[in-house]
Amino acid sequence: MNNITPPVIDELVLGFWRLLDRQATPQQSLQFLEEAIAAGITHTDHADIYGEYGCEREFGKVLALKPSIRDEIKIITKCGIKPAFPSLGLAGQANHYDSSAQHIIASTQQSLKHFNTDRLDVLLIHRPDYLMNADNVAEAFNTLKQNGDVLEFGVSNFTPSQLNLLQSRLDFKLVTNQVEFSPYEMKALDDGTLDQCQLLDIKPMCWSPLAGGLLFDEKDEKAIRLRHVLAQVGSEIGASSVDQVVYAWLLMHPSCPSVIVGTGNIKRVESAVAAKKLKLNREQWYRIWQGSTGHSVP
Ligand code: NAP
Repeated sequence: MNNITPPVIDELVLGFWRLLDRQATPQQSLQFLEEAIAAGITHTDHADIYGEYGCEREFGKVLALKPSIRDEIKIITKCGIKPAFPSLGLAGQANHYDSSAQHIIASTQQSLKHFNTDRLDVLLIHRPDYLMNADNVAEAFNTLKQNGDVLEFGVSNFTPSQLNLLQSRLDFKLVTNQVEFSPYEMKALDDGTLDQCQLLDIKPMCWSPLAGGLLFDEKDEKAIRLRHVLAQVGSEIGASSVDQVVYAWLLMHPSCPSVIVGTGNIKRVESAVAAKKLKLNREQWYRIWQGSTGHSVP
């Protein structure tokens, strides 16, 4: 394993998918960002399409209130999904993917404009495009890298073979595969995704670590079962919340994941940072796995 290159992406990243749902003013969002930075999280995750193309622009308004904050954070964003939003007059069209060089470059230029910045720290292809021409994506990545528009590149929701295909056309290393991974949704453990990250020393980024809030559902049987085990383990390791146990469980994986914290509540952000100090033993890790699957390992 290569331990020489420092990871490009931190252990904890703030996700801004739900930024517009919070109905916060730019000033309130700036305060949230400043408090998160003070707590120790400086990496932020976005996508061109979040909030029907509104979240990047809103985050840009936040940065405009304090331009110097741009140098304190990293901006990770994504492109490649083209939803047929009725709000854009596209009702009746099919949602589709577009990983053509032309679209990747145009989307990046738009993101730069929305954030009002001169560079994206990391750009990801949001979803694997069945029509992806890897040479074409590589051409776009090379252009963006040479121009200084994007510093690093990665993918999201890619299978290992899709990642291998794209990587084979690049002269530099993809830095991440951002995938769904939580105690509630564990398929990345078995489908080769996390194995590949460990093999290639690529940092997986885990989206929806709390299953998008479903973990707290009072009616979902799996969530109820999991919360019981998470609370039990939490009391053993001195955690102050179920969320903290989830973060510690994810961070324990040997692929050294990064966890994208989706909350807009600063207390929960601070609690996520504190969770980095918590340690589970193997039996506790597997007890949570068992809580998720409902059965023991063979
Ligand atoms: P999450 O952390 O699983 O879910 C966040 C949601 O859970 C928020 O609505 C939050 O509400 C709620 N929550 C957190 N703690 C809670 C608690 N103790 N009790 C009740 N509710 C609680 O993360 P996510 O937002 O689904 O995803 C995180 C990030 O991953 C996104 O922002 C986005 O950047 C990224 N993402 C990427 C993809 C992809 O395809 N690449 C897909 C989905 C998401 P509060 O705000 O009130 O705390």
